[in-house]
Amino acid sequence: MAYQHVLVAADFSEDALQVGERAKAVARQSGARLSLIHVVEEVNIGLGGGYELLPVLAELPEEALLQEARGALGELARRLGLEDAEKWVVNAMSTKEGILGAAREHGADLIVVGSHGRHGLALLLGSTANAVLHGAPCDVLAVRIR
Ligand code: AMP
Repeated sequence: MAYQHVLVAADFSEDALQVGERAKAVARQSGARLSLIHVVEEVNIGLGGGYELLPVLAELPEEALLQEARGALGELARRLGLEDAEKWVVNAMSTKEGILGAAREHGADLIVVGSHGRHGLALLLGSTANAVLHGAPCDVLAVRIR
């Protein structure tokens, strides 16, 4: 069965390019629509983390952070050659809730995440991949981050 709507969970680490490229390939094979989502966690506002490429983002107040995140997601899409993809920046209690909420709302049938990011290299799967897998209304692809 071909996927119809692939949702890529993007942080702003270098891994996002690897995750995005894989999602792009899968979407192309399926002839699927592709969307990108970045979640700004409410608890993380002002705390930083996961913004290696754009450390300034971690310093900004909420509205400015959301605004900058939109710009950063646009820039990531450009680097991936995905300018035409839909891009959502959402503010949620947790990254998991933000990703799953968007997947439900927009009818994604595949969520693509990185296997590991900044949360826990010691785990079999990183915390976001693990959390998303547990609550997902659809398939989940965890792209192995080396
Ligand atoms: P981590 O939980 O940090 O191990 O991240 C693993 C993967 O979860 C990343 O490669 C992304 O695909 C996704 N992810 C992490 N943080 C976010 C975020 N704020 N918004 C969207 N996706 C994220």
